[in-house]
Amino acid sequence: MSTLSGRRASPHYAAYIKSIKWTSKATRWKRETGCCEKCGGTEHLEVHHLHYRTLCAERREDVQVLCRACHALVHNEDRQHSAYWNAYDTWCKKKRLDPEDDHTEEFAEWIESRRR
Ligand SMILES: [Zn+2]
Ligand SMILES: [Zn+2]
Repeated sequence: MSTLSGRRASPHYAAYIKSIKWTSKATRWKRETGCCEKCGGTEHLEVHHLHYRTLCAERREDVQVLCRACHALVHNEDRQHSAYWNAYDTWCKKKRLDPEDDHTEEFAEWIESRRR
């Protein structure tokens, strides 16, 4: 299951997220769940889409109730994750290494050496 497709936000999505249809659904889920599904926190709950395949017709299993902090983290990890693998692929190509083999340790050393 890929979460990457979920990062492309369309104008349609922006309008939907503000709609009564979505906000009432999200409010109900937040109330029913009562806390963040990651950390159990009860402050600043938000509803996160696990994917966008059922956008506008989401069911409870398509979303996750998260607190603001965990929600931000989820989106951050997503971005950092793909940035890392993009850089890794480019580096492997330059070194004529097969990215499918595990060269992540050398890659980490290379990143370190560039920081110095
Ligand atoms: Zn949380
Ligand atoms: Zn989200």
